[in-house]
Amino acid sequence: MKIARVPAANEKFELTDIEIPEPGPGHVRVKVHACGVCHSDLLTVIGMMGNSFPRAPGHEIAGEVHAVGEGVRTWKVGDRVGVGWFGGCDFTCEPCRRGDFISCVNGKVPGIAYDGGYAEYMVAPAEAIARIPDDLSYVDAAPLLCAGITTFNSLRESVARPGDLVAVLGVGGLGHLGIQYAAKMGFEVAAIARGQDKEPLAKQLGAHHYIDSTAYDVADELNKLGGAQVILATVTVADAMAATIGGLKARGQLVVVGAPPEPMETPLAPLIFKSAAVQGHASGTSQDSEDTLRFSALTGVRPMTETVPLSEVQAAYDKMMSGAARFRMVLTMD
Ligand SMILES: [Zn+2]
Ligand SMILES: [Zn+2]
Repeated sequence: MKIARVPAANEKFELTDIEIPEPGPGHVRVKVHACGVCHSDLLTVIGMMGNSFPRAPGHEIAGEVHAVGEGVRTWKVGDRVGVGWFGGCDFTCEPCRRGDFISCVNGKVPGIAYDGGYAEYMVAPAEAIARIPDDLSYVDAAPLLCAGITTFNSLRESVARPGDLVAVLGVGGLGHLGIQYAAKMGFEVAAIARGQDKEPLAKQLGAHHYIDSTAYDVADELNKLGGAQVILATVTVADAMAATIGGLKARGQLVVVGAPPEPMETPLAPLIFKSAAVQGHASGTSQDSEDTLRFSALTGVRPMTETVPLSEVQAAYDKMMSGAARFRMVLTMD
């Protein structure tokens, strides 16, 4: 089978032929049909989370069950399945014994702990597998397993309730999904981005309001709308996040899912007076992925994608890293 691996830290991808891996006990072999190219794949390429080399990245994996290892009863050959950032847990650490599997201290990430979806086949633990509804294509499902679940799950676990004003900061790879989910969940949605050009797209995705952060004070504009119960921050610029906090209403949350390299500076007194919070949110488990995929199939939420064959993996990765990709790059295997 073909696999695209990084041979050593910071090196270019190498497309090689290796034996199709066998699933051990409790594991499932997935025939990959599509795999999203995520900005977090950089972590694998530079080895930032301590992965060994050579290593194939890829944690937005959509395909079908090709073989199951001993003891696997939930999955059978031919099932349409995906694997996202949650790539397995140990079931024995403190968070796991409390049922908080995404917080597992020994949690595995596909493409870091083991070879991910930049390949024709991959093997994952059975608990990392999510079912893909029949009416969702593999290409559409792939980005929903990271960008999708991250925005869907953080919104549904936030304090916002239907009818509340929810602002989505950023109209990019994460934000274009966050706007759709927020609208389909029944929130009043304000999209925030730099410049006017993204307004038509934001409105088409379901935003009721658009705020150009280069022309207006974002907090003032949110307050004119009554204040946001939740602001979903999908950008990677700390100052842009801090500039929204004054637009939270009482007991509001700034939910952070984009990771700026720099720290965020913000006065804390306003958070106290409003009992407001800055809240991080990890993506979610395989069941959260499955819920994301089902909700997307049901409501018509879809990622905007550009597909590239696995053989052109370097070009796809470079385009994603350069920021030239408009939304989500997806590798296809067939
Ligand atoms: Zn990702
Ligand atoms: Zn654990």
